[in-house]
Amino acid sequence: MKIPDSFVEQLIAALRRHGESGDVRLMGPTPDLLELRGPPKRGRYLPDVYKRWLRAPAAERDAIVDEFGRLRFGSNVMTADAGAVTDVDIRQDAIACCGDGVFVLLCCPACRAVWLHCEPNGHSWVDLTTTPRKLERPRADKCPSCGKALRFDEGLAALLPAREDVLAAGLERYLVQR
Ligand SMILES: [Zn+2]
Ligand SMILES: [Zn+2]
Repeated sequence: MKIPDSFVEQLIAALRRHGESGDVRLMGPTPDLLELRGPPKRGRYLPDVYKRWLRAPAAERDAIVDEFGRLRFGSNVMTADAGAVTDVDIRQDAIACCGDGVFVLLCCPACRAVWLHCEPNGHSWVDLTTTPRKLERPRADKCPSCGKALRFDEGLAALLPAREDVLAAGLERYLVQR
C-alpha cells in the first residue's frame, strides 16, 4: 500500500509533538514502515493507521494522527536483554486487534508457551499456529496454556521470549523478516 508523503509527514509531526527528538526514517519496500531510531528504538507499520484514517470522518482524522504520536512512548517495553523479542521484532499487521495497542509476544516462564499480547490493553491472542483466537478477558494474569500466575509487577520484560522460544513455538511468521 502506498502511503502518501503528506500523511507520513503528519505522523512524524505528531511524534515530535509527543516528545520524539530522535531520527525517524521511512523504511520498507513500499515504503510503509517508520523506523524510530530511538532511544528507545521502535518500528511502526503504517498501513493500519492509514486505513483507519481513510475510513474516519474528517473531524476524527486529527485525533487518529495524534494518537499515533502519543503511543510513541506509551507502548515502550523496557528490557535490558538484547536477545529478547520485543514489539519491533513483531509483524504488527499479522492480526487485527483493537487498533489501539502494540503487539508483543509473551512467554510463560513455566511451560514456555508463547502468545500475543496487545499492550497496553492486555488483549491476549492464542492458538497462533492454527486459528488465532482472542481471549475474552481483560488481562492475561495467568498463562493461557498451563494456568500459572504471571507477574506483571516488573512490566513485561520478564515475560518476553527469546527468538528461540518463538521459533520453538512455531511462530516465525509473526516475526519481522530482517
Ligand atoms: Zn488490542
Ligand atoms: Zn505456562
